[in-house]
Amino acid sequence: MQAAGTNSRKSENLPEKIYISTVDALYSDGRSLFVGSLSAIVAALVTYWKSGEPALLACALATVALGVLRIAEMRRYAGSRPDTIEDARRWEARYIRMSGANVLVLGVWCFLCFALTQDAAIHLISFSMVLAYLLGIAGRNFSSDRLVVIQTSCAAVLMIGGLLYQNSIYYHFLALLFVPFFISIRIIATRLRNVLFDAVIAKHDIESLANRFDTALTNMPHGLCMFDGQKIVVVTNGRFNELLGLSADIDVRGMHADELCAACIANGMIPPARSERFTSRFMEALANPKRKSVSLPLQGRKTLQLTFQPMADGGSVMLVEDITERRRAEAKIERLARFDTLTGLPNRMTFTERFEYELSSRNSALAVLFVDLDQFKQVNDTLGHPCGDALLCEVADRLRSVVRRGDVVARFGGDEFVVLQNPSDGTESAALLARRIIQAIEQSFNIDGHQIMIGASIGIALSPGDGNSTGQLLKNADIALYRAKADGRGVYRFFEPEMDETARARRILELELREALAREEFEVFYQPIIDIKTGKPASYEALLRWRHPQRGMVSPGEFIPVAEEMGLIVDIGNWVLRKACSDCTIWPSDIRVAVNLSPLQFRRANVVAVVADTLKETGLAPHRLELEITESVLMDDTEAAGIALQKLRDLGVTTALDDFGTGYSSLSYLHAFPLDKIKIDRSFLEDIDTDKKALTLLRGVARLSAELGMSVVMEGVETNEQLAVLVKEGSFTNVQGFLFGRPMPVANIIDLHGLDQPSARVA
Ligand code: C2E
Ligand code: CA
Ligand code: CA
Repeated sequence: MQAAGTNSRKSENLPEKIYISTVDALYSDGRSLFVGSLSAIVAALVTYWKSGEPALLACALATVALGVLRIAEMRRYAGSRPDTIEDARRWEARYIRMSGANVLVLGVWCFLCFALTQDAAIHLISFSMVLAYLLGIAGRNFSSDRLVVIQTSCAAVLMIGGLLYQNSIYYHFLALLFVPFFISIRIIATRLRNVLFDAVIAKHDIESLANRFDTALTNMPHGLCMFDGQKIVVVTNGRFNELLGLSADIDVRGMHADELCAACIANGMIPPARSERFTSRFMEALANPKRKSVSLPLQGRKTLQLTFQPMADGGSVMLVEDITERRRAEAKIERLARFDTLTGLPNRMTFTERFEYELSSRNSALAVLFVDLDQFKQVNDTLGHPCGDALLCEVADRLRSVVRRGDVVARFGGDEFVVLQNPSDGTESAALLARRIIQAIEQSFNIDGHQIMIGASIGIALSPGDGNSTGQLLKNADIALYRAKADGRGVYRFFEPEMDETARARRILELELREALAREEFEVFYQPIIDIKTGKPASYEALLRWRHPQRGMVSPGEFIPVAEEMGLIVDIGNWVLRKACSDCTIWPSDIRVAVNLSPLQFRRANVVAVVADTLKETGLAPHRLELEITESVLMDDTEAAGIALQKLRDLGVTTALDDFGTGYSSLSYLHAFPLDKIKIDRSFLEDIDTDKKALTLLRGVARLSAELGMSVVMEGVETNEQLAVLVKEGSFTNVQGFLFGRPMPVANIIDLHGLDQPSARVA
């Protein structure tokens, strides 16, 4: 800490307080003024008595008057001491005038004594009197340089004048001798002033430094306690007492460190059980305080941190900090890092640590159950995230309630929960727990007044059979879960090595599929859709083919569902659309192209914009493009689907409902959406030769669709008999199937219609 101060000795530069106190000093010495004045008056009266000169009596009387005035002035000053620098300056000026007048009168008296008389005694009395007064000036008025200069020079001129007035060489010599004396009076006064001001300023600086230090000590958030080399407390601040629970009026200064510890223990801040340990640690830290920190758990969940810092003189400074909040925040961060904030369950990290510990420390079996909620996504989507969150919390509670003590339930994120079980009876008890979990989750939930039904699928892996590392076991449980979900949800499956094989194959397929588009391994084949009246192709349906470098042609049935799950179908589908549109441009103008759209393309990509752009890019007339969609598109988001279909119709593109009869087959869709065509799935054809009911159903759908103004396509026509039935029925506008042609490369269409090979094709 440093205190800013001034070392200049000029009164104008003095700090206000000090300047005012110098003015105080001028007015304070009433007694010396009184004595000085009194002796001057007596001396003047003596000179008058001896000489009989009335002028000298006048001088005596003037001195009396001035003395009275000055004493009155001093009284006044005492009554209204200045508190501003301006007031002080005014008082100083008044003092200078008064005492200047006083010296002037004395000087004149001395001069007159020399001018009017030849009496050596009178000369001696007056001269020495004024001289003594001058010495008094240096002693009394040194604080004001101005005053000293005015008084000294005024008196000196008159005294020297008096000496010179006498016609005596000795008097003249004396006058000469006195010049340096007058100068030295000023020097003495200046030196005195400097010494005094230095001392006063230094005192002032020290005081303000001490004040600032005190303010800093009082206001610092830490408690501070300074020990000397003998471990005696020399300085503390208020916060120190507060933090250690010592009452504010206990002054610990002067206490030995031992006594201080005892006081802390006595007031109950340090729990009795820890008191001994506290004292020994405290004393040890104090004995060799190399920036040592001791944290101190107190009564009432408070924690203090004591930091010791050695000082040069062998003592040390101890800082006391309340770290309760910091500790709490650290604990909270730790909790956030280790536990799921929503459900309070351990998170993946915590689970894995525990799992690793269990694996390494016990020889018996462990079961990992990977639990995934069925239909959770729908709840989240339809009822909103807050509802989904509340559901997850309830699921967590139910899981906690079905496991035994020692089992661990964790949440890995989303709707994935994992249970670590110590199965007493291997597979059997793991299966039992899985069943209990499924049953618990299947019970309906009541969330914000909604009755919610969900289910759970579970995959189980057991150590050591299914692996002996956490990674391996978790992975295998996940694979088993995958199988459980594929097997119809609401079931549990134990991991089996073949599952791993399937999963591996699937992973490879995913990897290859990701590359296939870039490696140009896809091709589009076309299958004719025949106009039932003319028997000629009305359009070709674009069907995707994957020419795999090792496996040859891979069926779309195998890879499209995977591409759909991966989201890759959007890019692939857009590529097919562009390729099909581009191919169609070179076909006869009355032949159209049909392209299958995945529900994901409908949901994710802005399908209308993509179609419009593709048509523009390839130059295909919109009416030559037909998009085949499935029911799931209409079910997903009915309103958005309706809008998109209408926009496609506005573009001039037609839409067909594909695979009718395989899914939900709601007849209401036919009415509700702007669809141009319906494609009836080939499964309808299977039994029409033998089953009368099947034929009735097919007829019903076909007629209804025709009546709604839609074209009706029958897919999968393979025999002439089937065709005959369809022709006879009369509601069908188109047929498609192996009977008319299998899906084929675009080159075949070009040959079939006697077209030239296109010079450049859009890929
Ligand atoms: P889909 O849209 O129903 O296509 C008709 C499927 O029936 C084709 O199978 C076709 O080869 C087959 N098929 C045609 N006539 C007959 C027949 O007389 N008898 C039999 N048994 N089958 C016949 P493919 O090419 O294997 O395609 C399977 C499915 O893959 C398609 O069914 C379609 O859903 C999907 N798909 C194909 N290409 C694409 C595409 O580019 N995008 C999308 N999103 N899906 C596609
Ligand atoms: Ca189709
Ligand atoms: Ca179909």
